[in-house]
Amino acid sequence: MRHRVRDGSSLASILRLTQAESAAFAGTGVAFPLAITPYYASLLDPDNPDQPLRRSVVPTIHETLRAQGELDDPLAEEADEPVPGLVHRYPDRVLLLATESCSVYCRYCTRSRLVGRGHAAGETHGEPVRYRRWEAALQYIAAHPEIRDVLVSGGDPLTLSDDSIEWLLSRIRAIGHVEIIRLGTKVPAVLPMRITPRLVSIIRRYHPVWMSLHVTHPDELTSDMGRACECLADAGIPLGSQTVLLSGVNDSVPVLKQLFQKLLTMRVRPYYLYQCDPIPGSAHFRTSVATGLEIIRGLRGHTTGYAVPNYVIDAPGGGGKIPLQPDYCVGRDDDELILENYQGRTFTYPDPKVHA
Ligand SMILES: *Cc1c(COP(=O)(O)O)cnc(C)c1O
Repeated sequence: MRHRVRDGSSLASILRLTQAESAAFAGTGVAFPLAITPYYASLLDPDNPDQPLRRSVVPTIHETLRAQGELDDPLAEEADEPVPGLVHRYPDRVLLLATESCSVYCRYCTRSRLVGRGHAAGETHGEPVRYRRWEAALQYIAAHPEIRDVLVSGGDPLTLSDDSIEWLLSRIRAIGHVEIIRLGTKVPAVLPMRITPRLVSIIRRYHPVWMSLHVTHPDELTSDMGRACECLADAGIPLGSQTVLLSGVNDSVPVLKQLFQKLLTMRVRPYYLYQCDPIPGSAHFRTSVATGLEIIRGLRGHTTGYAVPNYVIDAPGGGGKIPLQPDYCVGRDDDELILENYQGRTFTYPDPKVHA
């Protein structure tokens, strides 16, 4: 973490920056902070600015341009925070934004408004402030018996110290009505050496703990990440993945098929494919929804069902995740439903009409 690349000149010493990339650092510099771990930097192509991993972590001038419909807080999370850093949107579960730091800042981050800021509300949060916030969140969870699932995310909670992680997990686990704890992280992909035997032994004490791993492209699935996933899976932590659909990075069937199939070999079940949220300066990353639907159509039936995640749009304005599916139901003929299979062949199913 201490050796991360944090500014334009360090970046220029390891990559041949294009004009669009160096322009991002001109003037007042990047609005959304830069951080790349040495490990992740080692995966970047110094000469190819179009390399998917490089595009997802190296800023360009495009991220300074705000397009129509882009919002600082597109998911309106702040409207659903009963206490700072705790989002209660769904009936039985909450999202705890445990930290504002990540080891690497993805340029398309849905929480670019708050992560890595380093100001009063940012990653320089002193320990006392952080613990005070956590206490308030824990009090809220304890007072709401309908909360049976606590999703700890951020920022990236695995950038916290072992002691902080243990404190938080033990306090959540002590609340009787919390059935499952989930951790959302990109650490196995960007800082796999953080998955130490000690960390794993802490997490497994608070089972059932599930983990969602943020992954973007098959080039991230190195042997180092494979070892990290092996440690986590061997500790009985069910692993899922979340991927943001990104133009020119992973928006094709071959790339995503390879990503999802390879995740299964690492015992990670693809969970969500997200339509990219309209954060400020994200137009160059966003695809059409039709592209996402065609990708799902290109996966479903063509490969293992486990390799097909749920494609969702997290609705701007705070509507939550809305699933999108290609329509395989192509019509109705009296008591028969007309269906299309993955090959485009037509079949019928005897589906009685519902009588009032
Ligand atoms: C994504 C999300 C969750 C978890 O949703 P699941 O569909 O249960 O994985 C919970 N709270 C918020 C605010 C979320 O954005």
